[in-house]
Amino acid sequence: MSLTKEYRVIDIKGVGPALAEKLREAGFSTVESIAVTPARILAELLGISETRAIKITQNARELLGIKFMRLRLDHIKCIESSHISTGCVSLDDMLGGGVETGAVTEFVGEFGTGKTQLCHQLSVMVQLPVDRGGLEAGAVYIDTEGTFRPERIVQIASYRGIDPRKALKNIIYARAYNSDHQMLLIDEVRKFISEKNVKLLIVDSLVGHFRSEYPGREFLAVRQQKLNKHVHQLLEIADIFNIAVVVTNQVLAVPDTFFGNPLRPAGGNIVAHGCTYRIWLRKGKENTRLARIFDSPNHPEIEVVFKITENGIEDV
Ligand code: ADP
Ligand code: MG
Repeated sequence: MSLTKEYRVIDIKGVGPALAEKLREAGFSTVESIAVTPARILAELLGISETRAIKITQNARELLGIKFMRLRLDHIKCIESSHISTGCVSLDDMLGGGVETGAVTEFVGEFGTGKTQLCHQLSVMVQLPVDRGGLEAGAVYIDTEGTFRPERIVQIASYRGIDPRKALKNIIYARAYNSDHQMLLIDEVRKFISEKNVKLLIVDSLVGHFRSEYPGREFLAVRQQKLNKHVHQLLEIADIFNIAVVVTNQVLAVPDTFFGNPLRPAGGNIVAHGCTYRIWLRKGKENTRLARIFDSPNHPEIEVVFKITENGIEDV
């Protein structure tokens, strides 16, 4: 059930056929997506004045008749998010069913803890039918480190009973060569998310380029500024298109820690505040890995185990 009547973009006052087409190209295929986008961003994406963008977003909101109402239980469905199973029961249980649409999920860990493996796994899992934990949709994979392996997708897809050829075709891949390129790619992704039925966006890894291009304390301010913009791009995409965004993050050794964990996720407060769910990965015995949610007020800090095998990510 929907809270509002269905309107088309062309129904918005001040939007003619040409602008409607421009909006569609920029990824705005619904009145809702325009109503919730900040005017400044709309102006930037469409190359129109901010004054005009403000009018358009206002008119979109008016059209939707955003007003107060008494809520009933049957209103819940339309704001419900869905989950993409990780293919591993223990991880899914911890995450409340898998990685959530409309949210940004961050996997943090040292080298070799399985971050990239999880990204491969999820790009396949999202393709499964709903009753098997997927969303029958495709993935976009932004690879900043050059660690994506199509042959790994073939292995995982075969194990999950998906035609490997189809599995590969449903993953839209781009290598990001620097931080500006990485941000540009995200702007491009907006344009085809709806059309190509994408329900998962992966950035592996989030902070790498920013850290190497703006090293040390000297560049801290500009690095965090740019990173903030990037994180907001991702939050916005997750929110507007109701897709799952999954990012990976490196850990840094913090000198002079006498108590507690001497490792910290890269990206500081910007990444900490931007990511909806943060999962810390560490190595266990042999091919096992441990995962726990951290920084979350409404999740218990339990640790679950999974293993990395030929078939991908599995329960132990
Ligand atoms: P990172 O956290 O650095 O991204 P990865 O996701 O690349 O780590 O995980 C690398 C680990 O995944 C390797 O140590 C290896 O144990 C495991 N792995 C990768 N491919 C396979 C495979 N085909 N079969 C079994 N284990 C694998
Ligand atoms: Mg990796």
